[in-house]
Amino acid sequence: MLTQFKDTIYACATPAGSGAISIIRLSGDKALDIVQSLVKSRTPLSEAAGYSLHFGRIFLPDGTLLDEVLVSIFRSPKSYTGEDCVEISCHASAYIYREMAQMLQLAGARAALPGEFTQRAFLNGKMDLSQAEAVADLIASQSRAEHRLAMQQMRGGYSREFADLRRQLIELSALVELELDFSEEELEFADREHLLTLVDAAIARIGSLKESFRLGNAIKNGIPVAIVGPPNAGKSTLLNALLGEERAIVSDIPGTTRDTVEECLVIGGLRYRFIDTAGLREGGEAIEQLGMQRAVESIRKARIVLCLLNPLDVEGSRRCMELVRQECMPLAAASQLQGQGNNSIKATAGNKGDFGNTADACADGATVLWVVNKADILESHKASLLFGPDAEYLYISAKERKIEDLYRALEENRPPIPDDSAAIVSSQRHFEALEQAYALLGNCRTALLDGLSQDLLSQDLREAIRALGSIIGDIDTEEVLGEVFRRFCIGK
Ligand code: GDP
Repeated sequence: MLTQFKDTIYACATPAGSGAISIIRLSGDKALDIVQSLVKSRTPLSEAAGYSLHFGRIFLPDGTLLDEVLVSIFRSPKSYTGEDCVEISCHASAYIYREMAQMLQLAGARAALPGEFTQRAFLNGKMDLSQAEAVADLIASQSRAEHRLAMQQMRGGYSREFADLRRQLIELSALVELELDFSEEELEFADREHLLTLVDAAIARIGSLKESFRLGNAIKNGIPVAIVGPPNAGKSTLLNALLGEERAIVSDIPGTTRDTVEECLVIGGLRYRFIDTAGLREGGEAIEQLGMQRAVESIRKARIVLCLLNPLDVEGSRRCMELVRQECMPLAAASQLQGQGNNSIKATAGNKGDFGNTADACADGATVLWVVNKADILESHKASLLFGPDAEYLYISAKERKIEDLYRALEENRPPIPDDSAAIVSSQRHFEALEQAYALLGNCRTALLDGLSQDLLSQDLREAIRALGSIIGDIDTEEVLGEVFRRFCIGK
């Protein structure tokens, strides 16, 4: 059923500025009447059928022709918001829009708030909350992977996963509630073993959805790639080469990049967030120290660390390698210190489950690429003599923009672009709700194992259902009781 909104809203749906056409959108009971009062057309617009298009003219109050327009009609409930909607395509002039907005206002429309059309669509049941959020993600998408995630979520595949999970918990809760109602009679409707199996299944499913956030978040916000290395290794030059433009400051004076510089680039359908950091070296003045601190933080947050090595500064490069190893693969670094052999770095470090195979991996799953820069002045494949035999090296020349090896390594170590069937969590709000549900179900599990009262169990379950429901915007706890009566015939 449609929620009744009192007013009719309007907004310019296309961006302000240069362009050929602007689209002014209206939604609400009076949308057709309001547009009719402005537009002179052959067919009366208030009687026009849905999905029809009409040519018309708009005149200013003094009779001057303001514009010739095309009007698209969408009749309730078959429209984006579920209400009567009209889209006026006019010429993209700031003056025309200003005049039209004024006339729409005089005719009784109100300027829409941000997101108000989609909010109405949600409140009118045209989409759930996660689908509404996906509309914003789709608009913001910059890469194929972001587009896929948003599209899958908008089309409802994602919501079905949560609705399904939530339904299972409601069924589970129904079993527990029933037991609760009859507890005085000491009747046990559901055996605890069975309940435990159901809770475990839900925990496993929520766990894997929670896990998908690592990938989803990286896709949505860009895969963070830290470019680290000693001063003068060519970090800024590399960032410029990647971007194909001069962005970071390049200079011969060590310590030029004192803060971090961040740039996004879409490579192979994924958005990467390259972070050029301050050079890692000992000493340096206070500001530079702070920059280095940030560089270390960038390493910790990165999914990929490009450790740039400079053949003209072997000592500094080696120190930097050590630091990256300490930050990214403490276990491997420790075993190396204990003389357990070089190969252990690749063998033991990290989880490579979701990131490629040609590089060393950080303990938390990030990947380290050892990149030898200035290959134009280094005799090829000499890196292992300079920097040690215990790593695989990529050779580039940032200055000459020879960075194919790096592109290849990024491609080999890229996370998978999700297919349409996978529900991948990319929203922080959803992730938090999942964490909450996960913890609450953990409590349920303990309660079942320890034989605690159903009271506690059912309370945690209700909370977990509410948390999952909040993802799709469905938060009716009465549903739990409804499920009890629907599934069981009490009178029998
Ligand atoms: P950063 O301190 O690591 O950011 O280093 P910069 O990007 O500022 O570069 C330091 C110096 O190294 C500059 O003089 C660059 O021109 C030079 N440089 C950078 N990349 C290369 C390269 O591939 N080959 C050569 N020969 N010089 C380079």
